[in-house]
Amino acid sequence: MSIDPRTVILLAGVMGGMMSVVLFVMRHNYPTAIVGLGEWASATGLIFVSTLLLGARGSIPDLASVVAGNLLLLVGLALFHIGSQRFLAVRAWTRTWAALILFSLPVMVWFTVVEPHYGIRVLTMSLLMLVLTAAHAWTIARHGIRSLASYLCIAALVVQAMAQAVRFVAAFGTTPDSSLFILSPTQTYFVTTYAFCLLLLSIGVVLMATDKLRAEFEHMARHDSLTGALTRRAFLDACDQELERDRRKNRVSSLLIMDLDHFKAVNDTYGHQAGDRVLVDFVERVGGLLRRPDKLGRFGGEEFVALLPETVLDEALVVAERIRAGVEQARAQPGCTVSIGVATSVPGEGTMDTILGRADEALYRAKAGGRNCVRAAA
Ligand code: GH3
Ligand code: MG
Ligand code: MG
Repeated sequence: MSIDPRTVILLAGVMGGMMSVVLFVMRHNYPTAIVGLGEWASATGLIFVSTLLLGARGSIPDLASVVAGNLLLLVGLALFHIGSQRFLAVRAWTRTWAALILFSLPVMVWFTVVEPHYGIRVLTMSLLMLVLTAAHAWTIARHGIRSLASYLCIAALVVQAMAQAVRFVAAFGTTPDSSLFILSPTQTYFVTTYAFCLLLLSIGVVLMATDKLRAEFEHMARHDSLTGALTRRAFLDACDQELERDRRKNRVSSLLIMDLDHFKAVNDTYGHQAGDRVLVDFVERVGGLLRRPDKLGRFGGEEFVALLPETVLDEALVVAERIRAGVEQARAQPGCTVSIGVATSVPGEGTMDTILGRADEALYRAKAGGRNCVRAAA
Protein backbone atom coordinates (compact mmCIF):
# COMPACT_ATOMS: atom_id res chain seq x y z
CA MET A 1 0.00 0.00 0.00
CA SER A 2 1.49 3.31 -0.96
CA ILE A 3 -0.37 5.84 1.15
CA ASP A 4 1.79 8.68 2.35
CA PRO A 5 1.42 8.89 6.16
CA ARG A 6 1.85 12.66 6.05
CA THR A 7 -1.14 13.02 3.68
CA VAL A 8 -3.26 10.79 5.91
CA ILE A 9 -2.34 12.80 8.99
CA LEU A 10 -3.15 16.10 7.29
CA LEU A 11 -6.43 14.79 5.88
CA ALA A 12 -7.40 13.48 9.31
CA GLY A 13 -6.48 16.86 10.73
CA VAL A 14 -8.73 18.71 8.28
CA MET A 15 -11.62 16.33 8.97
CA GLY A 16 -11.06 16.78 12.71
CA GLY A 17 -11.09 20.54 12.21
CA MET A 18 -14.45 20.31 10.46
CA MET A 19 -15.84 18.14 13.27
CA SER A 20 -14.60 20.79 15.70
CA VAL A 21 -16.65 23.44 13.86
CA VAL A 22 -19.71 21.14 13.96
CA LEU A 23 -19.29 20.62 17.71
CA PHE A 24 -18.82 24.34 18.37
CA VAL A 25 -22.02 25.12 16.44
CA MET A 26 -23.85 22.40 18.40
CA ARG A 27 -22.58 23.79 21.67
CA HIS A 28 -23.91 27.19 20.66
CA ASN A 29 -27.34 25.86 19.58
CA TYR A 30 -28.03 23.02 21.99
CA PRO A 31 -29.69 23.51 25.38
CA THR A 32 -27.17 24.34 28.10
CA ALA A 33 -28.33 21.22 29.95
CA ILE A 34 -26.29 19.17 27.47
CA VAL A 35 -22.75 19.65 28.77
CA GLY A 36 -19.43 18.39 27.42
CA LEU A 37 -19.90 19.79 23.90
CA GLY A 38 -17.46 22.64 24.58
CA GLU A 39 -14.73 20.22 25.71
CA TRP A 40 -15.32 17.97 22.71
CA ALA A 41 -15.20 20.94 20.33
CA SER A 42 -11.96 22.26 21.90
CA ALA A 43 -10.49 18.74 21.91
CA THR A 44 -11.08 18.19 18.20
CA GLY A 45 -9.77 21.72 17.56
CA LEU A 46 -6.55 21.04 19.51
CA ILE A 47 -6.07 17.70 17.78
CA PHE A 48 -6.56 19.50 14.46
CA VAL A 49 -3.77 21.96 15.30
CA SER A 50 -1.58 19.11 16.57
CA THR A 51 -1.90 17.22 13.29
CA LEU A 52 -0.91 20.37 11.39
CA LEU A 53 2.19 20.69 13.59
CA LEU A 54 3.09 17.00 13.36
CA GLY A 55 2.47 17.06 9.61
CA ALA A 56 4.83 20.03 9.22
CA ARG A 57 7.74 18.03 10.65
CA GLY A 58 10.93 19.08 8.92
CA SER A 59 9.53 22.43 7.74
CA ILE A 60 9.30 23.91 11.24
CA PRO A 61 11.57 23.45 14.29
CA ASP A 62 11.22 20.09 16.10
CA LEU A 63 10.29 21.87 19.30
CA ALA A 64 7.16 23.21 17.59
CA SER A 65 6.42 20.14 15.54
CA VAL A 66 7.30 17.23 17.83
CA VAL A 67 7.00 18.70 21.32
CA ALA A 68 4.11 21.15 20.81
CA GLY A 69 2.36 18.81 18.35
CA ASN A 70 2.42 15.83 20.71
CA LEU A 71 1.56 17.98 23.72
CA LEU A 72 -1.51 19.40 21.98
CA LEU A 73 -2.48 15.89 20.92
CA LEU A 74 -2.34 14.66 24.53
CA VAL A 75 -4.24 17.68 25.83
CA GLY A 76 -6.81 17.13 23.08
CA LEU A 77 -7.29 13.45 23.95
CA ALA A 78 -7.55 14.26 27.67
CA LEU A 79 -10.08 17.02 26.96
CA PHE A 80 -12.05 14.60 24.78
CA HIS A 81 -12.30 12.23 27.73
CA ILE A 82 -13.20 15.05 30.14
CA GLY A 83 -15.94 16.14 27.71
CA SER A 84 -17.41 12.62 27.75
CA GLN A 85 -17.22 12.52 31.54
CA ARG A 86 -19.07 15.83 31.82
CA PHE A 87 -21.59 14.71 29.18
CA LEU A 88 -22.26 11.52 31.15
CA ALA A 89 -22.37 13.46 34.45
CA VAL A 90 -19.46 11.65 36.10
CA ARG A 91 -16.50 13.23 37.88
CA ALA A 92 -13.90 14.47 35.40
CA TRP A 93 -10.29 13.33 35.77
CA THR A 94 -8.93 16.82 35.05
CA ARG A 95 -6.13 16.76 37.66
CA THR A 96 -5.00 13.24 36.82
CA TRP A 97 -4.63 14.05 33.13
CA ALA A 98 -3.01 17.43 33.82
CA ALA A 99 -0.41 15.74 36.07
CA LEU A 100 0.26 12.96 33.56
CA ILE A 101 0.78 15.41 30.69
CA LEU A 102 2.97 17.74 32.79
CA PHE A 103 5.22 14.83 33.78
CA SER A 104 5.54 13.65 30.20
CA LEU A 105 6.53 17.10 28.95
CA PRO A 106 10.20 17.05 30.17
CA VAL A 107 10.62 13.54 28.71
CA MET A 108 9.40 14.70 25.32
CA VAL A 109 11.59 17.85 25.39
CA TRP A 110 14.66 15.87 26.46
CA PHE A 111 14.34 13.18 23.79
CA THR A 112 13.54 15.72 21.08
CA VAL A 113 16.00 18.53 21.74
CA VAL A 114 18.75 17.32 24.08
CA GLU A 115 19.13 13.69 23.13
CA PRO A 116 16.83 13.02 20.15
CA HIS A 117 15.47 9.48 20.24
CA TYR A 118 12.41 8.58 18.18
CA GLY A 119 11.92 5.19 19.86
CA ILE A 120 11.68 6.61 23.37
CA ARG A 121 9.30 9.32 22.18
CA VAL A 122 7.08 6.67 20.58
CA LEU A 123 7.18 4.59 23.78
CA THR A 124 6.11 7.62 25.82
CA MET A 125 3.41 8.81 23.41
CA SER A 126 1.93 5.40 22.67
CA LEU A 127 1.74 4.56 26.37
CA LEU A 128 0.04 7.87 27.21
CA MET A 129 -2.34 7.58 24.26
CA LEU A 130 -3.13 3.99 25.27
CA VAL A 131 -4.00 5.08 28.81
CA LEU A 132 -6.07 8.07 27.62
CA THR A 133 -8.07 6.16 25.02
CA ALA A 134 -8.59 3.05 27.18
CA ALA A 135 -9.85 5.20 30.07
CA HIS A 136 -12.16 7.06 27.69
CA ALA A 137 -13.56 3.78 26.30
CA TRP A 138 -14.11 2.52 29.85
CA THR A 139 -15.99 5.70 30.84
CA ILE A 140 -18.44 5.41 27.92
CA ALA A 141 -18.86 1.64 28.35
CA ARG A 142 -19.55 2.06 32.05
CA HIS A 143 -21.72 5.18 32.07
CA GLY A 144 -23.05 5.66 28.53
CA ILE A 145 -26.50 4.48 27.50
CA ARG A 146 -26.68 1.45 25.21
CA SER A 147 -26.93 3.05 21.79
CA LEU A 148 -25.32 2.87 18.40
CA ALA A 149 -23.57 6.17 19.15
CA SER A 150 -21.96 4.80 22.34
CA TYR A 151 -20.90 1.59 20.60
CA LEU A 152 -19.33 3.63 17.80
CA CYS A 153 -17.31 5.68 20.30
CA ILE A 154 -16.24 2.60 22.26
CA ALA A 155 -15.23 0.72 19.09
CA ALA A 156 -13.20 3.70 17.84
CA LEU A 157 -11.45 4.07 21.21
CA VAL A 158 -10.76 0.36 21.69
CA VAL A 159 -9.25 0.01 18.20
CA GLN A 160 -7.18 3.14 18.87
CA ALA A 161 -6.01 1.77 22.24
CA MET A 162 -5.09 -1.58 20.67
CA ALA A 163 -3.15 0.14 17.90
CA GLN A 164 -1.24 2.16 20.51
CA ALA A 165 -0.49 -1.04 22.47
CA VAL A 166 0.96 -2.66 19.35
CA ARG A 167 2.88 0.54 18.58
CA PHE A 168 4.28 0.58 22.13
CA VAL A 169 5.61 -2.97 21.76
CA ALA A 170 6.92 -2.30 18.26
CA ALA A 171 8.73 0.84 19.46
CA PHE A 172 11.38 -1.29 21.20
CA GLY A 173 12.83 -2.12 17.82
CA THR A 174 13.09 1.43 16.44
CA THR A 175 16.31 3.31 15.92
CA PRO A 176 16.88 6.81 17.37
CA ASP A 177 16.70 8.51 13.99
CA SER A 178 13.58 6.88 12.46
CA SER A 179 10.50 9.03 11.91
CA LEU A 180 6.73 8.87 11.70
CA PHE A 181 6.98 9.69 8.00
CA ILE A 182 9.16 6.82 6.90
CA LEU A 183 7.02 4.93 4.43
CA SER A 184 6.42 1.46 5.84
CA PRO A 185 3.29 -0.71 6.01
CA THR A 186 3.32 -0.60 9.83
CA GLN A 187 3.65 3.17 9.92
CA THR A 188 0.83 3.57 7.39
CA TYR A 189 -1.32 1.20 9.45
CA PHE A 190 -0.81 3.22 12.65
CA VAL A 191 -1.41 6.56 11.04
CA THR A 192 -4.53 5.41 9.15
CA THR A 193 -5.97 3.75 12.25
CA TYR A 194 -5.32 6.90 14.26
CA ALA A 195 -6.99 9.10 11.65
CA PHE A 196 -10.08 6.93 11.20
CA CYS A 197 -10.57 6.28 14.89
CA LEU A 198 -10.49 9.99 15.67
CA LEU A 199 -13.00 10.72 12.94
CA LEU A 200 -15.29 7.90 14.13
CA LEU A 201 -15.01 9.12 17.71
CA SER A 202 -15.99 12.66 16.67
CA ILE A 203 -18.98 11.31 14.73
CA GLY A 204 -19.85 9.11 17.72
CA VAL A 205 -19.95 12.00 20.19
CA VAL A 206 -22.01 14.12 17.79
CA LEU A 207 -24.53 11.23 17.61
CA MET A 208 -24.48 10.82 21.41
CA ALA A 209 -25.33 14.52 21.80
CA THR A 210 -28.12 14.25 19.21
CA ASP A 211 -29.54 11.22 21.03
CA LYS A 212 -29.56 13.19 24.25
CA LEU A 213 -31.25 16.17 22.61
CA ARG A 214 -33.99 13.92 21.22
CA ALA A 215 -34.46 12.31 24.64
CA GLU A 216 -34.77 15.79 26.22
CA PHE A 217 -37.40 16.87 23.71
CA GLU A 218 -39.31 13.64 24.18
CA HIS A 219 -39.20 14.13 27.92
CA MET A 220 -40.40 17.72 27.56
CA ALA A 221 -43.26 16.64 25.30
CA ARG A 222 -44.37 13.92 27.72
CA HIS A 223 -44.02 15.75 31.02
CA ASP A 224 -45.71 18.78 32.49
CA SER A 225 -43.09 21.50 32.93
CA LEU A 226 -44.33 22.65 36.37
CA THR A 227 -44.87 19.39 38.22
CA GLY A 228 -43.08 16.78 36.12
CA ALA A 229 -46.26 14.64 35.94
CA LEU A 230 -47.18 13.11 32.56
CA THR A 231 -49.05 15.37 30.16
CA ARG A 232 -52.64 14.47 29.28
CA ARG A 233 -51.55 12.99 25.94
CA ALA A 234 -48.68 10.91 27.40
CA PHE A 235 -50.93 9.69 30.20
CA LEU A 236 -53.69 8.62 27.82
CA ASP A 237 -51.12 6.82 25.62
CA ALA A 238 -49.84 4.93 28.67
CA CYS A 239 -53.43 4.07 29.64
CA ASP A 240 -54.24 2.72 26.18
CA GLN A 241 -51.22 0.42 26.37
CA GLU A 242 -52.19 -0.74 29.84
CA LEU A 243 -55.81 -1.42 28.85
CA GLU A 244 -54.58 -3.41 25.85
CA ARG A 245 -52.43 -5.50 28.20
CA ASP A 246 -55.39 -5.95 30.56
CA ARG A 247 -57.49 -7.24 27.67
CA ARG A 248 -54.86 -9.80 26.68
CA LYS A 249 -54.19 -11.00 30.21
CA ASN A 250 -57.78 -10.69 31.42
CA ARG A 251 -57.06 -8.51 34.44
CA VAL A 252 -58.16 -5.09 35.67
CA SER A 253 -56.55 -1.73 36.34
CA SER A 254 -57.84 1.20 38.36
CA LEU A 255 -57.96 4.91 37.71
CA LEU A 256 -57.95 7.77 40.23
CA ILE A 257 -59.07 11.30 39.37
CA MET A 258 -57.88 13.78 41.97
CA ASP A 259 -58.95 17.42 42.19
CA LEU A 260 -57.59 19.81 44.79
CA ASP A 261 -60.31 21.38 46.90
CA HIS A 262 -61.01 25.12 46.77
CA PHE A 263 -57.75 25.65 44.96
CA LYS A 264 -58.92 28.95 43.60
CA ALA A 265 -59.04 30.18 47.20
CA VAL A 266 -55.42 29.10 47.73
CA ASN A 267 -54.40 31.19 44.74
CA ASP A 268 -56.55 34.11 45.82
CA THR A 269 -55.24 34.07 49.39
CA TYR A 270 -51.57 33.20 48.99
CA GLY A 271 -50.86 34.13 45.38
CA HIS A 272 -50.31 32.15 42.20
CA GLN A 273 -46.72 31.20 43.04
CA ALA A 274 -47.74 29.65 46.34
CA GLY A 275 -50.46 27.82 44.39
CA ASP A 276 -47.80 26.48 42.01
CA ARG A 277 -45.79 25.22 44.96
CA VAL A 278 -48.84 23.37 46.29
CA LEU A 279 -49.20 21.65 42.91
CA VAL A 280 -45.53 20.62 42.86
CA ASP A 281 -45.70 19.34 46.45
CA PHE A 282 -48.87 17.43 45.65
CA VAL A 283 -47.27 15.58 42.74
CA GLU A 284 -44.18 14.82 44.81
CA ARG A 285 -46.30 13.45 47.64
CA VAL A 286 -48.53 11.34 45.40
CA GLY A 287 -45.51 10.08 43.44
CA GLY A 288 -44.04 8.85 46.71
CA LEU A 289 -47.20 6.92 47.52
CA LEU A 290 -47.50 5.16 44.14
CA ARG A 291 -45.71 2.01 42.98
CA ARG A 292 -43.20 1.92 40.15
CA PRO A 293 -45.57 0.76 37.38
CA ASP A 294 -48.22 3.34 38.35
CA LYS A 295 -48.61 6.41 36.15
CA LEU A 296 -49.34 9.93 37.34
CA GLY A 297 -50.61 12.60 34.95
CA ARG A 298 -51.80 16.20 35.09
CA PHE A 299 -55.05 16.65 33.21
CA GLY A 300 -55.11 20.40 33.59
CA GLY A 301 -55.09 23.06 36.30
CA GLU A 302 -55.35 21.32 39.67
CA GLU A 303 -56.76 18.06 38.35
CA PHE A 304 -54.56 14.96 38.35
CA VAL A 305 -55.01 11.32 37.33
CA ALA A 306 -53.28 8.14 38.40
CA LEU A 307 -53.41 4.78 36.67
CA LEU A 308 -52.78 1.75 38.88
CA PRO A 309 -52.14 -1.30 36.68
CA GLU A 310 -53.25 -4.73 37.94
CA THR A 311 -55.15 -3.15 40.82
CA VAL A 312 -58.73 -4.06 41.84
CA LEU A 313 -61.17 -1.48 43.20
CA ASP A 314 -60.62 -2.29 46.90
CA GLU A 315 -56.86 -1.93 46.59
CA ALA A 316 -57.24 1.30 44.61
CA LEU A 317 -59.54 2.72 47.32
CA VAL A 318 -56.85 2.04 49.92
CA VAL A 319 -54.27 3.91 47.80
CA ALA A 320 -56.71 6.79 47.23
CA GLU A 321 -57.42 7.08 50.95
CA ARG A 322 -53.69 7.07 51.69
CA ILE A 323 -53.22 9.94 49.22
CA ARG A 324 -56.16 11.90 50.63
CA ALA A 325 -54.88 11.50 54.22
CA GLY A 326 -51.28 12.25 53.19
CA VAL A 327 -52.29 15.53 51.51
CA GLU A 328 -54.46 16.55 54.44
CA GLN A 329 -51.67 15.91 56.94
CA ALA A 330 -48.97 17.70 54.93
CA ARG A 331 -47.33 20.32 57.11
CA ALA A 332 -46.38 22.65 54.26
CA GLN A 333 -48.23 25.98 54.09
CA PRO A 334 -50.59 26.78 52.45
CA GLY A 335 -52.37 23.53 53.21
CA CYS A 336 -54.87 21.95 50.87
CA THR A 337 -57.13 18.90 50.64
CA VAL A 338 -58.04 16.65 47.75
CA SER A 339 -61.18 14.88 46.51
CA ILE A 340 -60.74 11.61 44.66
CA GLY A 341 -62.94 9.56 42.33
CA VAL A 342 -61.95 5.93 41.71
CA ALA A 343 -63.01 3.61 38.87
CA THR A 344 -61.86 0.18 37.76
CA SER A 345 -61.78 -1.26 34.26
CA VAL A 346 -64.20 -4.05 33.45
CA PRO A 347 -62.35 -7.12 32.10
CA GLY A 348 -62.76 -7.45 28.34
CA GLU A 349 -64.78 -4.28 27.80
CA GLY A 350 -64.75 -0.53 28.26
CA THR A 351 -62.51 2.11 26.77
CA MET A 352 -60.41 4.72 28.47
CA ASP A 353 -63.21 7.24 27.91
CA THR A 354 -65.79 5.15 29.76
CA ILE A 355 -63.47 4.55 32.73
CA LEU A 356 -62.58 8.24 32.85
CA GLY A 357 -66.25 9.11 32.71
CA ARG A 358 -67.04 6.82 35.64
CA ALA A 359 -64.12 8.11 37.73
CA ASP A 360 -65.20 11.68 36.95
CA GLU A 361 -68.72 10.93 38.10
CA ALA A 362 -67.30 9.51 41.36
CA LEU A 363 -65.19 12.68 41.80
CA TYR A 364 -68.31 14.79 41.32
CA ARG A 365 -69.96 12.87 44.16
CA ALA A 366 -66.86 13.34 46.34
CA LYS A 367 -67.10 17.11 45.78
CA ALA A 368 -70.82 17.09 46.43
CA GLY A 369 -70.28 14.98 49.54
CA GLY A 370 -68.26 17.74 51.21
CA ARG A 371 -64.81 17.37 49.54
CA ASN A 372 -61.62 15.90 51.14
CA CYS A 373 -63.01 12.38 50.59
CA VAL A 374 -62.78 9.35 48.28
CA ARG A 375 -65.70 7.93 46.27
CA ALA A 376 -65.83 4.79 44.12
CA ALA A 377 -67.60 4.67 40.76
CA ALA A 378 -70.92 2.90 40.83
P1 GH3 B 1 -63.23 22.75 43.79
O1 GH3 B 1 -63.02 22.37 45.20
O2 GH3 B 1 -64.64 22.71 43.38
O3 GH3 B 1 -62.37 21.96 42.88
O4 GH3 B 1 -62.78 24.28 43.68
P2 GH3 B 1 -61.50 24.85 42.99
O5 GH3 B 1 -61.33 26.26 43.45
O6 GH3 B 1 -60.35 23.96 43.23
O7 GH3 B 1 -61.86 24.75 41.46
P3 GH3 B 1 -61.85 25.77 40.28
O8 GH3 B 1 -61.94 24.95 39.04
O9 GH3 B 1 -62.90 26.80 40.48
O10 GH3 B 1 -60.46 26.50 40.34
C1 GH3 B 1 -59.31 25.92 39.91
C2 GH3 B 1 -58.22 26.93 40.07
O11 GH3 B 1 -56.96 26.37 39.73
C3 GH3 B 1 -58.41 28.12 39.18
C4 GH3 B 1 -57.05 28.35 38.53
O12 GH3 B 1 -56.63 29.66 38.63
C5 GH3 B 1 -56.15 27.46 39.29
N1 GH3 B 1 -55.05 26.94 38.49
C6 GH3 B 1 -55.12 26.23 37.34
N2 GH3 B 1 -53.88 25.93 36.90
C7 GH3 B 1 -53.00 26.47 37.77
C8 GH3 B 1 -51.57 26.53 37.85
O13 GH3 B 1 -50.83 25.98 37.01
N3 GH3 B 1 -51.03 27.19 38.89
C9 GH3 B 1 -51.81 27.79 39.84
N4 GH3 B 1 -51.21 28.43 40.86
N5 GH3 B 1 -53.14 27.77 39.79
C10 GH3 B 1 -53.75 27.12 38.78
MG1 MG C 1 -60.41 21.98 42.44
MG1 MG D 1 -60.68 21.36 38.86
